[in-house]
Amino acid sequence: MPLKADLTSADLDEIRQSALGAADPLGVAASLADAVNSGGLADPGDSGYALTLAAEIAESRSKLGAALQYVESAIDAYGTRDDSQVAAARALRARILFRTGRGDEATTALEALRPALTRFPDAAAYVSAALVAGGRNRVAEQWLSEAVRMALAERAGSSDPADAEDAGLLFFLLQQRHRIRHLLGLPHDVHDNLAERLETKLADTAAAEADEDPLFWPQAEFDRALAQWPALAESYGKSWDEHRAHLERELTRLTGAGRTGLTLLPGTVAGLTRHAGSDGDPADPTVRAGYARSLAAGPGQIPWPPERNAQCWCGSGNKYKKCCLPRSRG
Ligand SMILES: [Zn+2]
Ligand SMILES: [Zn+2]
Repeated sequence: MPLKADLTSADLDEIRQSALGAADPLGVAASLADAVNSGGLADPGDSGYALTLAAEIAESRSKLGAALQYVESAIDAYGTRDDSQVAAARALRARILFRTGRGDEATTALEALRPALTRFPDAAAYVSAALVAGGRNRVAEQWLSEAVRMALAERAGSSDPADAEDAGLLFFLLQQRHRIRHLLGLPHDVHDNLAERLETKLADTAAAEADEDPLFWPQAEFDRALAQWPALAESYGKSWDEHRAHLERELTRLTGAGRTGLTLLPGTVAGLTRHAGSDGDPADPTVRAGYARSLAAGPGQIPWPPERNAQCWCGSGNKYKKCCLPRSRG
């Protein structure tokens, strides 16, 4: 299948998302290799990445010979680079070697990659996956345990590992280790407890974000609210157009995620003020979430989406297809 000319890094990321569901994934893999060989990449520096992608696609279809060829070309293309992408490609090669019965070579390759566990979060996933694919769960558990100890030691002094900006790697290591220890039937230790605590926390954050209440400020109320509480611009946008576009995109996204029966909750300055009472601050997101919940329990909700030719939900008086519908693409 032909790919477009001058593939950019963003195009490659997109192919990565979609290739496995494509009708002809192996055709996509071959086209990626062609693009590399015929100057079809916008940035030739992406050659290694494109070939790694081809290898992953071929591996997913159990075309291990082709996968190995692609990944070895990828490693060649990376040359002397030493970063997360190269380490990921090398770990992928090890995984494919395991799957083709070349376990000794795979093990040697992974031993050289062991430091990547704490250096490159993105590659760490590949290293750990390769060990598991090779049935080396005990080795994976040992390596991950040591990597967790190192990561924690580096972060010693910070009060809560979960709040650190660089907690991503630590969290990943803890999570992998936790999973593998369950596979091995090992009892929980303190690091497993920490892993579970972080997993719960992350799930809560994701749920809170997914449930962001669609408070909708009709135009006059929007202007009034921002005049009274300028900080609300951070939540709802600087202009009413921005506010409407944000809501339209958010509702479109929720629909894409399978949600139905969506409505908009039209807020008013008077209503929010009443809800906040004497000691609540309307700029506080939890106060506004409470207000949105109270609106969600009452009448006056606006169903979304309207028919294309019906009046737009925003109250502009224009047809939906000429008003907020196109805003979701802006
Ligand atoms: Zn557990
Ligand atoms: Zn509209």
